[in-house]
Amino acid sequence: MSYPELKALEGDISTCFRCSLCKMVPLPVFKSREFADICPINSHYMFHSYSASGLGYMALALSEGRIPADKALADIVFSCRTCGYCDMACNFIMESKRNEINMTLRETLVREGLAPDEYKKTVQNIKNTGNPAGLTNIKAGDWAYGLDLKKLPEQKASVLLYAGCLARYDKKAMLSARQMAKLLIYSGVDVGILGDDEKCCGLPAHWAGFKDDFKGMASVNADLFKKAGIETIVTVCGACLGTIKAKYPKYGVKTGIEVLHATELLERLIKSKKLKLRKPLNLKVTYHDPCYLGRQSEPFAEWKGEEKTVFGQMKYTVPPREINYGTKGVFDPPRTILKSIKGLTFNEMYRIREYSHCCGAGGGYAQAYEDMSLKAAKERIKEARHVGADFMITSCSHCKAQFEKANASMKSEAVNVLDIIDLAFQAADIN
Ligand code: SF4
Ligand code: SF4
Repeated sequence: MSYPELKALEGDISTCFRCSLCKMVPLPVFKSREFADICPINSHYMFHSYSASGLGYMALALSEGRIPADKALADIVFSCRTCGYCDMACNFIMESKRNEINMTLRETLVREGLAPDEYKKTVQNIKNTGNPAGLTNIKAGDWAYGLDLKKLPEQKASVLLYAGCLARYDKKAMLSARQMAKLLIYSGVDVGILGDDEKCCGLPAHWAGFKDDFKGMASVNADLFKKAGIETIVTVCGACLGTIKAKYPKYGVKTGIEVLHATELLERLIKSKKLKLRKPLNLKVTYHDPCYLGRQSEPFAEWKGEEKTVFGQMKYTVPPREINYGTKGVFDPPRTILKSIKGLTFNEMYRIREYSHCCGAGGGYAQAYEDMSLKAAKERIKEARHVGADFMITSCSHCKAQFEKANASMKSEAVNVLDIIDLAFQAADIN
């Protein structure tokens, strides 16, 4: 069996010299020995195959026909949380394509029919119902009940507030979406929603490795956005932001519309004094950078040129390709908001910004990975506690739900979890 997409990456895979930096925080930003591990699958399974380097060499072995595409391989490949940290670590030392290699291997196994059943079901649910849970009894626009928001495209507005799927069935995510809408109305923003026409951004299909399905979902959404005649899309959830802003163009779907996360628009409103956070909140907080709002939302940079190899292994590009360091993700706006709230004690964790530790929720849900996935969240909660925080603030509905789930078995070590929108809403002191 030949796999042309893996074949094309063989040279890139071979640049890995097994330094294992993709398993830990880079030394220049190392702050704590206890909180230095960073690849969730490697920390849990403790074998090299469960790492970007291991996944890469298994992709090479598969491409060269030395191992079969079978369930044993799939069990390892689909455990990856697609958090993208390994790409940052490896790019720290060379121009690498760890993210692309991980995803291409996963997409190859999907085509071989080897995806976990839960991943297949999630993708089918989106295709059947527009949401990953397959719900038909709750409509996509129910979260906005009674808010009297403009309905696009029948009505016109310059900003589309994109709530995301969790706002449909997670009560806390629903509340964050409602509070964001209220903050925008209060600040005089011309905002509308797609209501029941809103569909999943497609991230669960991307996570699962269903490339063609993801591209189809992205195209349907891009058409909906264009038809809405808006200038800006504002996402409530950080995961939707990274998907629409960075992954759609990477997979060839362009909207031509500005895409912002809620925190970016709130930061603009605070700076222009249209939104005032007047009420002091005496809380000890820390901030968790979600993977898809942070490093994974770095805008996709198109490149055309030639790859050259030196010493039979090291590569360089002509003209130089822009390296994705993840630093252009959304990191500062949430911090600006936190620093604008009087009374807050804000302590950073040790693994932050592009080197943030994944909450474990990404990559797709399967029962087989439940322990590993929750362990990642518990690691992060311990880190939040270690820096003295009583509240873990985040800006992604998936991270928030994952921390709540992990909290359930952490007793006194548990931490309060809040979306940054909820915090801004409290500080704005509106109803
Ligand atoms: S993938 Fe990159 S960071 Fe990881 S072991 Fe290989 S060279 Fe090192
Ligand atoms: S994407 Fe995340 S979970 Fe997957 S190999 Fe890289 S660091 Fe590990």
